[in-house]
Amino acid sequence: MTRRVLVASRNAKKLNELRRILDEAGVEGIEIVGLNDVPEYDEAPEIGATFEENAVAKARDGFAATGLACVADDSGIEVDALNGMPGVLSARWSGAHGNDGANNTLLLAQLGDVPDERRGARFVSSCALVADGVEEIVRGEWPGVIGRKPVGDGGFGYDPLFFPDGGDVSSAQLTPAEKDAASHRGRALRQLLPALAALAQN
Ligand code: IMP
Repeated sequence: MTRRVLVASRNAKKLNELRRILDEAGVEGIEIVGLNDVPEYDEAPEIGATFEENAVAKARDGFAATGLACVADDSGIEVDALNGMPGVLSARWSGAHGNDGANNTLLLAQLGDVPDERRGARFVSSCALVADGVEEIVRGEWPGVIGRKPVGDGGFGYDPLFFPDGGDVSSAQLTPAEKDAASHRGRALRQLLPALAALAQN
């Protein structure tokens, strides 16, 4: 029997990322569906103080509304020179939600005088799995540094400014497979594999 698991997202890339991770790990018996595949329900705004709070709130809502085991994530970038901000405000750092260009321009301006040795940052993803009697919250981090101008045209969000592990390739220059293998979200989702495999057995 196949167990349906809801990923609380409309982003096909996120659904496919979890599908690939399950395939690579040889976990069978799980069918991933997204928010477009289930009846619409009220989605609460993301108002948590931490990635974890937002992820688990989304996963609880998805499970309560559909009865399906639900995986949800919340992610962003923490910049050392900004004391860990933008953090949970990453998507709306410049004021408008999801304006990647304006967010990147503002972040570069804020770090204008910050020397190379203090440009450390990390992408963070918290993922939560909620099902009957199950509530698991995990975190993946991807360390790097913030560059001085956008480089590369792949990815999204802060990718053109983020140089993983202090290297000279931005995360916007990685192929999707390279990014999956290294990224915060991949690192978090892989930690949910044992719990997902256990669900598939029941
Ligand atoms: P969300 O969790 O998908 O809502 O993402 C929150 C925000 O964090 C995005 O709008 C991006 O600005 C940023 N972000 C999260 N993950 C990434 C990534 O892998 N690359 C670039 N930006 C990211």
